[in-house]
Amino acid sequence: MGRVAEVDLTWSPEEEAFRHEARAWLAANVPCPPLPSGDTRDGFAAHLEWERALFEARWSVVSWPERFGGRDASLWEWLIFEEEYYRAGAPQRVTQNGIFLLAPSIFEFGTAEQRERILPRMAAAQDLWAQGWSEPGAGSDLAGITSRAERDDAAGGWRLFGQKTWTTRGAFCTHLFGLFRTDPAAERHRGLTYFLADLRSPGVTVRGFERLDGDEGFAEVFFDGAFVPDRDVLGEVNRGWSVAMATTGSERGLTLRSPGRFAAAAGRLVELARSRGAPGALAERVVQSWIEARAYELFTLEQVSGIVTGDQPAARSSLNKLYWSELDVRLHETALELLGTDGEADGPWSRGFEFALAGPIYAGTNEIQRNIVAERLLGLPRA
Ligand SMILES: Cc1cc2nc3c(=O)[nH]c(=O)nc-3n(C[C@H](O)[C@H](O)[C@H](O)COP(=O)(O)OP(=O)(O)OC[C@H]3O[C@@H](n4cnc5c(N)ncnc54)[C@H](O)[C@@H]3O)c2cc1C
Repeated sequence: MGRVAEVDLTWSPEEEAFRHEARAWLAANVPCPPLPSGDTRDGFAAHLEWERALFEARWSVVSWPERFGGRDASLWEWLIFEEEYYRAGAPQRVTQNGIFLLAPSIFEFGTAEQRERILPRMAAAQDLWAQGWSEPGAGSDLAGITSRAERDDAAGGWRLFGQKTWTTRGAFCTHLFGLFRTDPAAERHRGLTYFLADLRSPGVTVRGFERLDGDEGFAEVFFDGAFVPDRDVLGEVNRGWSVAMATTGSERGLTLRSPGRFAAAAGRLVELARSRGAPGALAERVVQSWIEARAYELFTLEQVSGIVTGDQPAARSSLNKLYWSELDVRLHETALELLGTDGEADGPWSRGFEFALAGPIYAGTNEIQRNIVAERLLGLPRA
């Protein structure tokens, strides 16, 4: 599984100063009462105001270079910011598919022109990105997609055809990144290209639909000849698979679900147990959740130590995904049992539980992550 990196668990005075600055800003600015769900139309609009306030104060993308709206913060400082962000109970990041998933791939595979053009608008929440992987006939088997792009030489680009589905907050976004088949004759994983599409273009129809919890942020997106210029191909034509795998590494690994999220949730669980009392076995489960959140934090610190010295197999992000998604379900189950039958019907714990149940599905199901761990990290034969 690769070398175990040496981890320094102390923070420098500069890192502590960064933490204090973030904590003070968040204490003064986090909306109270909390914003409505960002997966509803009104809630999304309220979250955009928050995103723009973060950007104005240069907290929206702390680890990016200053010229794109960031603070040039190190990965360690980013972890500190995340910890403070969740600790303060700050709003969900409705820009996450852009800033946490697409942006790392633009830094890695994009041209200088793409970085200059796309990243500042993403940081400022002017362009809002949805993820276009899944199709009605292709989820786990992403290489089975049938959406396609046809060359339009006269116009200098491509025409997109097909349907994407389950696009989170797609109904409210302005842009979509996704894979489309550009060489139907090629073997499945080849012949795919990674496109950056404007959802407001002619030939695009976005149809929002509800999740089980009633929020309306999912969308199906239909392409019928929508034009994408050559400058909006990310990476090389027919080489989109490797770019997409880099994006999924960000989604499963550190960037989408940093340890601060679970440390904060475990802290709230301990407070709940203290306020309501927890009989023996439940008290043990509360402690177990707290230990698991701390273990995830230590695992990610070790992981970052590896990343900064250039020693991290990409498949390790599947370990993160398995761990955080299953921890999240257990933690919320324990909270609901603590609340008991007189617990909240539609409060933060029950809504959090419903969303936690989706964790083993989105970002690639946990069965698929177990296959990846078995084959690529443990070297077992292919399933
Ligand atoms: C909350 C949420 C948000 C999402 N957001 C987005 C988004 O923004 N953009 C996007 O593109 N998609 C999104 N998705 C879709 C998600 O990526 C897919 O649901 C997921 O990849 C599984 O695909 P599927 O639903 O087609 O299930 P299927 O692939 O049909 O799988 C069905 C079952 O079979 C199992 N299975 C399949 N193949 C194997 C195998 N080889 N070995 C073992 N078991 C297997 C799966 O684990 C699963 O249990 C989202 C999903 C959820 C729940």
